[in-house]
Amino acid sequence: MSKDINSEKDLTGIELGPQSKGFVSFLSKDPSLNGVIKDFRYGYIRASSFFKKKIPEVKLTLVYSREEMNNLIGYKTSSWFVGYADSSSKIFMFSPSVFDRESNHNKKDFRKVLCHEISHLFIRQIHNSYEPVWLEEGLAYYVAGQESRLKNSNPIFNNPKALFLIDTRNRWNKTIGSQPDVPYALAFLLVDFLISCYSKDRVIKLLMSLEGRYNKKRFCQKFRKLYGKDIKLILKEFFSRQNIK
Ligand SMILES: [Zn+2]
Repeated sequence: MSKDINSEKDLTGIELGPQSKGFVSFLSKDPSLNGVIKDFRYGYIRASSFFKKKIPEVKLTLVYSREEMNNLIGYKTSSWFVGYADSSSKIFMFSPSVFDRESNHNKKDFRKVLCHEISHLFIRQIHNSYEPVWLEEGLAYYVAGQESRLKNSNPIFNNPKALFLIDTRNRWNKTIGSQPDVPYALAFLLVDFLISCYSKDRVIKLLMSLEGRYNKKRFCQKFRKLYGKDIKLILKEFFSRQNIK
């Protein structure tokens, strides 16, 4: 164990798997540390086996107040916001010891949220852009085994263009405004549908094919090439399935 040079926190190194090291930056006497280390390993192994990839170093910084989180991110975050992954294999998350107090999440969500953030790091290795956001967030949600609480009576299921309300960062943020669960849940259901009906490998191939900046038209072309049909048809299938359930 050593001092984290960039902060007042302690730093501990752990083995995440073969050729993968993890680091946790934490406040000394944090009673959650051992649990965090277990969850870190669990989340890493889960994501690594899903993507069949490794990341040599992952750093997790535990955060202890909403103010600290806001300062790290540079803007005022909402109460549902509990963590994020940056582009250099660093994750910032509330420690389980303050999770309930600083957010509207249950402490029990920590493990899944951490796995979600780790999944972002793996996705970033395959496709170096955050867009389309529904694919990125839906996949992270899927890998982490997070559940959707979206009811199929939600009006979003009557919108055949729903996918294009949550593709760019701007549109995603607009949709997320009042009901943060809705875009996440829809993104998850879509990815879940694509994986169960068209295989996980095809979703990964789709990610790999999306080089560079997101562009709706180009995305639809790549999609059609891989799935053999128009994305609109696949969306129809998806929505009709949701309504049967
Ligand atoms: Zn996410």
